[in-house]
Amino acid sequence: MNIGIDAGGTLIKAAYRHEDSLELVTFPIAELVHVASWLNEMQNADICITGGKASLLQRHLKQEAREIVEFQASCRGAQYLLEQNHIAEESYILTNVGTGTSIHYVDRGVQRRVGGTGIGGGTMVGLSRLLTGLSEYGAIVEAAAGGLRDRIDLTVGHIYEGGEPPIPGHLTASNFGSVARSAAERRYREPELAASVIGMVGETVATVSVLAAQSCGVSTIVFIGSSFIGNDPLKRAVESYTELRGGKPVFLDKGEYSGALGALLSD
Ligand code: ADP
Repeated sequence: MNIGIDAGGTLIKAAYRHEDSLELVTFPIAELVHVASWLNEMQNADICITGGKASLLQRHLKQEAREIVEFQASCRGAQYLLEQNHIAEESYILTNVGTGTSIHYVDRGVQRRVGGTGIGGGTMVGLSRLLTGLSEYGAIVEAAAGGLRDRIDLTVGHIYEGGEPPIPGHLTASNFGSVARSAAERRYREPELAASVIGMVGETVATVSVLAAQSCGVSTIVFIGSSFIGNDPLKRAVESYTELRGGKPVFLDKGEYSGALGALLSD
């Protein structure tokens, strides 16, 4: 059996074929030893690993597994998913919003890393936890879905106060900027805090991606990574900011498995 594993900073993703169907599974990184035992039980498995925790996982394996570079794997897997979804794109920016964010220029199957930012899925969870006490990804996203950002984020319109702004008034001028202007005793609720954190991550990721797209002369930006799983607030923030700045966003279904799929498909 062939199996591709992407062992990342937060989650381990696995892709393998079982009786003609493609199986995709996720484990928390805390279960690395359990994942190694699962792999060790497989007879004659051809295992290919990628991701930041690939070497650590390798150390727990009884058999030698192949390793491929993470960026190469995620680009290969994303290309596969694009083809499966009949999306024909030759040249595009691939933005992987994982624990952190990595940005690649893909041109006819060849990828080049063009940048990244430490603002990513880890920021969403970490900062939300500091501000709200919520620590589970699902709880944070659920809270954010019911939160309004207007008491926390300062928009361009807030600054111009009725005057004619040079850019659209609803754009964020300063994430969390309204807090600095409000009374010290003002208390904030979990949903608005989580919504503002996710909004900040989404706007940053979209802005950096669009700048990368402009510098590479393309407009399509393909977004992947587990940070988008069930996360409509993040998708909406990324989508609206990308479109507003002239980019064409594409969200790949199962995009979080790009690295694992790329490892599975590598020879
Ligand atoms: P990595 O390869 O670095 O682990 P991923 O693409 O798997 O990155 O994305 C990790 C991010 O996905 C987390 O920082 C978090 O925001 C989000 N996430 C989605 N589902 C979960 C989950 N069940 N547990 C923790 N984080 C999750």
